[in-house]
Amino acid sequence: MSDCLFCRIVAGEIPADVVHETDRTLAFRDVNPQAPTHVLVIPKDHHATAGLLVGADPQLLAEVVAAAHAVAVQEGLATQDGPEPGYRLVANTGPAAGQTVHHLHLHVLGGRSLGWPPG
Ligand code: 5GP
Ligand code: ZN
Repeated sequence: MSDCLFCRIVAGEIPADVVHETDRTLAFRDVNPQAPTHVLVIPKDHHATAGLLVGADPQLLAEVVAAAHAVAVQEGLATQDGPEPGYRLVANTGPAAGQTVHHLHLHVLGGRSLGWPPG
């Protein structure tokens, strides 16, 4: 989708600070970080939400989650087999949740104490 910001990042039309890549996923630092680590993990193919992706290609949703875990390990937020010190995965979905880019992305947030519930 040529009018989608994240499709344009996948296409290399907009620069991004890429921290992890597989054949079907891409992870790059958020331009407006909300924590010391704030990385966005996306499927390279355009899918608007996790709910739509799981119907279309459940394996790809699993690959996005696996990529998010790999980013967390790489950033020192988790180990291969444990969640310490910890991080948060967020998928804002739809207008009430403030989704501004309608290409599924998991926010990987960590590096500070994260309050709950979020605002
Ligand atoms: P949402 O609000 O849809 O869950 O999250 C969209 C995220 O994309 C926001 O955290 C915003 O800072 C980030 N963002 C918006 N434009 C760009 C951009 O051009 N590059 C990068 N790396 N992040 C962006
Ligand atoms: Zn897209």
